[in-house]
Amino acid sequence: MKHVLLASLLLLAACNNNDAKAPEQAASPEAKNQVAVKMYALECGLIDMLDLSLFDKGGAYAGRTNKAVDSCYLIRHPKGDLLWDTGLPDALNAMKDGVTNGPFHLSVPTTLGSQLDALGVNPADIEYLSVSHSHFDHVGNAGAYAASTFLVSEAEHTHLFRDDARKDAQTFPAYSALETARTVKFKGEYDVFGDGTVTIIETPGHTPGHTVLKLELAKTGTVLLTGDLYHLHEAREKRTIPVFNTDAEETLRSMDKFEALAKASNAKVIIQHSVKDFAALPKPPLYLE
Ligand SMILES: [Zn+2]
Repeated sequence: MKHVLLASLLLLAACNNNDAKAPEQAASPEAKNQVAVKMYALECGLIDMLDLSLFDKGGAYAGRTNKAVDSCYLIRHPKGDLLWDTGLPDALNAMKDGVTNGPFHLSVPTTLGSQLDALGVNPADIEYLSVSHSHFDHVGNAGAYAASTFLVSEAEHTHLFRDDARKDAQTFPAYSALETARTVKFKGEYDVFGDGTVTIIETPGHTPGHTVLKLELAKTGTVLLTGDLYHLHEAREKRTIPVFNTDAEETLRSMDKFEALAKASNAKVIIQHSVKDFAALPKPPLYLE
């Protein structure tokens, strides 16, 4: 990688000196890593899991609670922006002490909107929106990004707009505007910018069309954002399956697929709800590259 970069810089210097046109370079696995993709980690809410037992149908977490973060990501590529997940509704920001909703205590100390604003990003200018899946803590602001092209697996799109989902008066209104958004549906995986740097990968089981995001960053290398394939580091070690997953066997197959990819690419894995993983990331205006 370093040699390729050095060679490119020398080539660039030579071109500047001679005012000559650079020869076409053959695409190489390294070439894609030279695209300057930036990952901004945004805090889109805090979640106290008041009954962690829900996160393993086998009872591994009985009697425990857990503090989680709800993270969102702005991926900036030379060809456009992708917003990955939208967190809890920004409207919760008005409730200073947050709100308890069933087994969760939810709060939004800082809105997604204000964080994008601080980066100078207008929601209407974000080219692409994708969510790892359709749960309330990932689609909380999705409707505000309906001007973007919505990238979604076919199975999750069906799940989002099924009859039962429409009856969910708390969650459906948060994303219902996406029904008329420009939409690209896919099966398997989707290469967002066509150069292998940003790829959405279907990993079903938590929901029928759950997805994870794979990034190829120039300095960091491969990064995998888990969505809710795992909620805890312990879940990755123990392969625990939440009681509310739609398909347990499918979840295990998705874990196998994900771990094979993580190993083959020596990926930096970010568990999106992990306070520890989130705390270790640079915060805006800084970014991972
Ligand atoms: Zn979640």
